[in-house]
Amino acid sequence: MDSSNIRSLVIEDNAVHARLILSLLAKAEAVSFDVVHVDTLTAGLARLAQGGFDIVLLDLVLPDSQELDTFLRLRKEAPDIPVVILSGLEDINLAARAVESGAQAYLIKGQINSAQLERSIRYAIERTRAQSGEWDSPMFRLAQQQFLKAAQIMDLDDNFRQRLLFPQRTQVVTFPFRRDKHEEVETVFGYRVQHVLTMGPTKGGIRYHQEVNLGEVSALAMWMTWKCALMQLPFGGAKGGVRVDPTGFSRKELQRLTRRFTSEIIGMIGPDKDIPAPDMGTDENVMAWIMDTYSQQVGYSVPAVVTGKPVVLGGSLGRKEATGRGVVYTIEDAAKHMGMKLDQSTAVIQGFGNVGSNAARFLAEDGVKIIAVSDATTGIYNPRGLSVGSLLEYIREHRFLKGYPDGEEISNAELLELPCDILVPAALQNQISAENAPRINCKLLAEGANGPTSLEADVILNNRGIFIVPDVLANAGGVTVSYFEWVQGTQNYMWSLDEINGRLHKIMTAAFHAALERSQRDHVDMRTAALIEGIDRITQAKLLRGLFP
Ligand code: NAD
Repeated sequence: MDSSNIRSLVIEDNAVHARLILSLLAKAEAVSFDVVHVDTLTAGLARLAQGGFDIVLLDLVLPDSQELDTFLRLRKEAPDIPVVILSGLEDINLAARAVESGAQAYLIKGQINSAQLERSIRYAIERTRAQSGEWDSPMFRLAQQQFLKAAQIMDLDDNFRQRLLFPQRTQVVTFPFRRDKHEEVETVFGYRVQHVLTMGPTKGGIRYHQEVNLGEVSALAMWMTWKCALMQLPFGGAKGGVRVDPTGFSRKELQRLTRRFTSEIIGMIGPDKDIPAPDMGTDENVMAWIMDTYSQQVGYSVPAVVTGKPVVLGGSLGRKEATGRGVVYTIEDAAKHMGMKLDQSTAVIQGFGNVGSNAARFLAEDGVKIIAVSDATTGIYNPRGLSVGSLLEYIREHRFLKGYPDGEEISNAELLELPCDILVPAALQNQISAENAPRINCKLLAEGANGPTSLEADVILNNRGIFIVPDVLANAGGVTVSYFEWVQGTQNYMWSLDEINGRLHKIMTAAFHAALERSQRDHVDMRTAALIEGIDRITQAKLLRGLFP
């Protein structure tokens, strides 16, 4: 669901009441509503059968259905959709009975304003999701399937399979968050998940995104475990997130949200326990606020509680660009293996944030022609090549790529299918599926994003001879330099940029060759090989530590 646009079905036979509801929805500020209005239950059920709605606003007394039966008939036909009852003052008891039977809320017509209506709807959707879907995420299914495939090939003991399929620790918090311009307070959901505690402290980013749930964060934590193990870092995997859309948040809002979330999960994090870092929607400022909130609580400065913080606060040189740099190191290794000349190659990059823009920068330095890039607003295509410097300048000024003059605007879906040598998805998960995999037109796919390729797409791409550098390998540069930052923080000794890049290069290349050799020796694809390398290390460590008690 796009949380900024809610598709609503209003089932209400009273024309005056319907007009009122529609006008209140039209006035909503924080989200927009696509509204379909019908005046009978039969018409409502027919629309629901076509799908595509996020919420139903339901009057219980309709020409073709009466009282609680109206709700029960709708619930039977559409069991998963959240329902808010539109009630008259005289029908409150009836509305309350509908809530007991599973409706999310009721509203008294004539006594609500636009903000209240909007909030009730958003919360009804949120509650339905929290009740039914916390673990149910396509990303978690993907992470588990990938793990099970590797476990099958490794003939991994069943007990390990079961233990590693779910995180060891999870914390779900809800907390209040005040927007600048709204008097009212929002309740938001936050998560911190630690997948494996065997290897040392846990490590993983914090994501602010409207789709975050327990399953998604658990998938990302699991991938962090394999990634850290593959890179031979002394960490288990973790991840955190808050389910909000931070686009458009002021710095004050972002700071308030971060400080409160930090204090909610403070018992779980610490420099020897669990060390957060930036991910989608968070950056070095967010890390500085986490560090400050934690330090205020314990009474002294603890820079090593986060990585990816500003250099002046003990952040590492080279951390900001490390993931993009690491992606390019693995592309260089893959190109060498494939006999591909980078200075005669073209690249397409999806996502122009931290990972995508830095990957573009370092690829351009290698002489690769960047023919298309994109962000959430648009794709930009220029077969003669794009200037990365000018794109970065444009982003600095306009925040998004929309309107960039030196190229043709294309959609993100079109961008993924452009003919090129190197494709770097560096935005979101779940971008390459069985549907578009047959049309992906590159020789080398380097996954900057986490989980951009479905299991079915993986098989199709491998069968078509596309060389894949999987996410756990390609984007591991970030956590590797985060490890360097943590070491520098705990030793109070800072390294030079050359030292950092040199060590990063060595570790990335070693991991690339470990995965490649495993892939050739065991006749498995690169993703499975990289996962097996990681899983193998974790299981060895678990066996050596034995069982408690
Ligand atoms: P970011 O927030 O800096 O950038 C994300 C980019 O994706 C932005 O350009 C945004 O506009 C774009 N985007 C958002 N929605 C989109 C859509 N629907 N279509 C196309 N583009 C869209 O995030 P980031 O840190 O660059 O992370 C990107 C990916 O890389 C994520 O999957 C993240 O988990 C992964 N990753 C990041 C790091 C890191 O160090 N930052 C490390 C490892 C993996």
